Amino acid sequence: MNYKEILDRVMAVVKPEENIGHLANYIPELGKVNPNKLGVHLSTTNNFDLGIGDNLEKFSIQSISKVFAVCLAYKTMGEGIWKRVDVEPSGNPFNSLVQLEADKGIPRNPFINAGAIVICDILISHLEKPKEAFLNFVREISDNPELTFCQKIADSEKSVGYRNIALCNFIKSLGNIENEPEEVLDFYFCLCSLEMTCQELSKAFLFLANGGQKVSDKKVILTKRQTKRINALMQTCGFYDESGEFAFEVGLPGKSGVGGGIVAVFPNNYSIAVWSPMLNAKGNSYKGMMFLEQFTTETEASIF
Ligand code: GLN
Repeated sequence: MNYKEILDRVMAVVKPEENIGHLANYIPELGKVNPNKLGVHLSTTNNFDLGIGDNLEKFSIQSISKVFAVCLAYKTMGEGIWKRVDVEPSGNPFNSLVQLEADKGIPRNPFINAGAIVICDILISHLEKPKEAFLNFVREISDNPELTFCQKIADSEKSVGYRNIALCNFIKSLGNIENEPEEVLDFYFCLCSLEMTCQELSKAFLFLANGGQKVSDKKVILTKRQTKRINALMQTCGFYDESGEFAFEVGLPGKSGVGGGIVAVFPNNYSIAVWSPMLNAKGNSYKGMMFLEQFTTETEASIF
């Protein structure tokens, strides 16, 4: 497969397209990002690595971090985490509160805000220094000791974080948060503030395309069974109430964030990260989805 030719071809089509949508300006710092950025990076399980456009520029990965958080919680605590968070698509927006009361405080999945907040609570209960442990985990899977949180973005989100504050308190009232909401939310805002490039992201996700094992140093991060389950969750829940559409158009497990990033994984083949900050109505990158749809169409390969 000539990936370079395909990336160039898809870029030439997607880049000049009209950029429809909006920035995630409900987080003031994210409203300042240049809406015309477009970067893509592909990393394959046989060690091929290729990027195009703004692939080396850092951006706020936001909800993509939820994948790292659930992987660390799964690795730390095993199957017990599924008692605290379910594995069903929610069919609702990422920040929705509506199902929680009927579901007795058990969020539908770890990729909506409610689920990620419960995962943060689990990590705080099980790790002595959760922020450090989280950063070490992300640094390890991406072979990059420099990765860190962006305090400015975390503070910016916290200053207007009424919805997440409500979510955390509501879940606490329903008995599914063990720690103080303030501590849980501080951790949640921090992990959403992580900044990475497309290159760093595609490398960090490569173990999920490789049966749970890092390609660079062969270290096992998750078992094959755990990896299957994380990929299944990305497939069914990675794009909130647009997860069906992403499966329909792209055909790969993936995860988006309101910073405009999307990472998709093709098991036994590659991981690919795309960044374009303008979001559609569901909070997913407009051109990111378009790029990946054309990429899997051109490569004629997906998990389906
Ligand atoms: N930090 C964001 C929030 O909680 C993450 C949402 C997202 O990326 N979908 O609103």
